Amino acid sequence: MISPVRKTGDFLTFGSPLIEEAEIQEVVACLRSGWVGTGSRVAQFEEDFAKLKGMDSAVAVNSCTAALHLSLLASGIGPGDEVITTPMTFCATVNAILHAGATPVLADVDQRTMNIDPVEIERRITKRTKAILPVHFAGRPCDMDAILDIARVHSLKVIEDCAHAIETEYKGRKAGTFGDFACFSFYSTKNIVTGEGGMILAKRAEDINRVKVLGLHGMSKDAWKRYGDEGFEHYQVVECGFKYNMMDLQAALGVHQLRRVDAYWDNRESVWKRYMHGLKGLPIELPSAIEAHTRHGYHLFTILVSEEEAGISRDEFLNRMTYHGIGVGVHYLSLPEHPYYQQALGWRSDDCPKAMAIGRQTVSLPISAKLTERDVEDVIRAVHGALGYE
Ligand SMILES: *Cc1c(COP(=O)(O)O)cnc(C)c1O
Repeated sequence: MISPVRKTGDFLTFGSPLIEEAEIQEVVACLRSGWVGTGSRVAQFEEDFAKLKGMDSAVAVNSCTAALHLSLLASGIGPGDEVITTPMTFCATVNAILHAGATPVLADVDQRTMNIDPVEIERRITKRTKAILPVHFAGRPCDMDAILDIARVHSLKVIEDCAHAIETEYKGRKAGTFGDFACFSFYSTKNIVTGEGGMILAKRAEDINRVKVLGLHGMSKDAWKRYGDEGFEHYQVVECGFKYNMMDLQAALGVHQLRRVDAYWDNRESVWKRYMHGLKGLPIELPSAIEAHTRHGYHLFTILVSEEEAGISRDEFLNRMTYHGIGVGVHYLSLPEHPYYQQALGWRSDDCPKAMAIGRQTVSLPISAKLTERDVEDVIRAVHGALGYE
């Protein structure tokens, strides 16, 4: 048995975030202030985020899943409506469509970019189609020109799932500024973290107001104004909303993390480049070249392990990486492979053959801002070791 690259107790956790002193102090200050719920720190985080994206406003919520749910509802989507999305995403994307009462319809991905294929979107449009929900997979932008064209011709809403794509750009425009709505995640493994958290962008002021009301019980005034010092404010319940607001405790992390969004992106870009160089020539498939006029978000570095080429199965590769002390991920098993969707929606594994093939071969290597030079070298050595190379 060859010896592991990293010993027990030195396991490299997949997606571990970089938490620095400024946010630790801010969380402590937030606790000491006695105001831990939705307040001025959330307002600051929303303002900073909107500014980063060049938008007038943004709405912070407690997850990207909540952001997707609210965006769908505010788009007027409900029972009887169909929403076209990708099979190569986290289950939350499709669950949010189901929670809105609508029917998710999958359009297969482009093999190379792993993003939703506009040709496949067009094939699935029916009288009931109301929206397209593209996911900028791994941080690589979708073909937004084609998607916006289709949306215009068929009068469809566009809701961008930007969970991987805070930094992503397409032809000089930032991801999240294309759609009617865009949803971001600050979950613990994402590029910027608040523990749990999400953000909504919307083009129209009325949409911003609607998601704000829907995200806080359907109340007409937000709670921090209610308890503020600007005079007593009555609230009225104007619809049956949800409890999706972000806390100041979370925003205390977010405001500082957001200031380092580009520095962290630089870190991940250098990890990406070192992997591309250090893994060259191995019998695995590396991420395809980054398209001209785009900025990749470098959220995931995914390789494909095909048993024919590599001589070992993907799952054996995952086991060997774990043995070497390297945490790995799978993003994602194609959604129609999951039993719930097969039972509830009649989906079959091979509904989207390209996503199925990717999902059965894909492995995500660690690519967080926290990785040291040594961590990156260890990952490269472990991949060599797992494949039987020195
Ligand atoms: C993480 C993720 C989500 C859900 O984000 P949460 O903040 O955990 O709710 C949605 N879509 C994609 C593509 C994701 O990766």
